[in-house]
Amino acid sequence: MTLPVDADWYRHEELDARTVLITEPRVHPIFSANMHLVLGRDKDLLIDSGMGVAPLKPFVDAQRPDPGKPLILLSTHTHVDHIGAAHEFATRLVHPLEAAEMEAPSEYSLRSDAIPDRFRALFEEAGYEALWPLLIDAVPHEGYDPDGWRLQGAVPTGTVEEGDVIDLGDWQAEVLHLPGHSPGQVGLFHHDSGTLFGADAIYDGPLIYDGPGMSIPDYAATLRRIAALPVIRVHGGHDPAFGKARLDEIVTEYLQRWGA
Ligand SMILES: [Zn+2]
Repeated sequence: MTLPVDADWYRHEELDARTVLITEPRVHPIFSANMHLVLGRDKDLLIDSGMGVAPLKPFVDAQRPDPGKPLILLSTHTHVDHIGAAHEFATRLVHPLEAAEMEAPSEYSLRSDAIPDRFRALFEEAGYEALWPLLIDAVPHEGYDPDGWRLQGAVPTGTVEEGDVIDLGDWQAEVLHLPGHSPGQVGLFHHDSGTLFGADAIYDGPLIYDGPGMSIPDYAATLRRIAALPVIRVHGGHDPAFGKARLDEIVTEYLQRWGA
């Protein structure tokens, strides 16, 4: 199979004066996660690191006014589409419940035939388009071998837990432990602007409810908690940002569907 070359592997979009959304459009929608770069006075913050198909750090640095500034990578959880390029960053934070997976992640392949039928059916039932033969529909450069791709482990350099604060000097956000989609998933809440970085606890697309490490009761509790926060804007782990009205709809739909 010959895939086209798309050298502009990552795309970026300025969401506000200090927040940049980074995406991987050539990755199948179900594995195409959002990365958010938050620019601060003393440090910058990158939330998640995609699939690791192409080098990410040079692209991130190109979006930073001062690439010499310290950069924190926060992995919201350790699913393949959120930690692919974690090893490229010097400071790597994750919740303690997912530290072992980040250091020695499960084996993955870019070939979708490695995905069990049960999950394939689950993804389609959730509303995603059928999986492609590979999880990518282009390669980042001529001669790229998708079979050479591996999810590389990265030893966390620190951990974050409920109530911790990520401090960029002129921007502080609280770490929220949001289990359900995964046991040690974290989000970030920036109280000053009412902005929630919701990771895969909430996004405006099919929420995946079943799989290793997932829990519907935990997911429901997390969504109830999110619905009670003074949220104005949500930047989720997938799909476009949304506001409080849509947040309430997503939570209500989920709780009704699962009777949770
Ligand atoms: Zn996930």
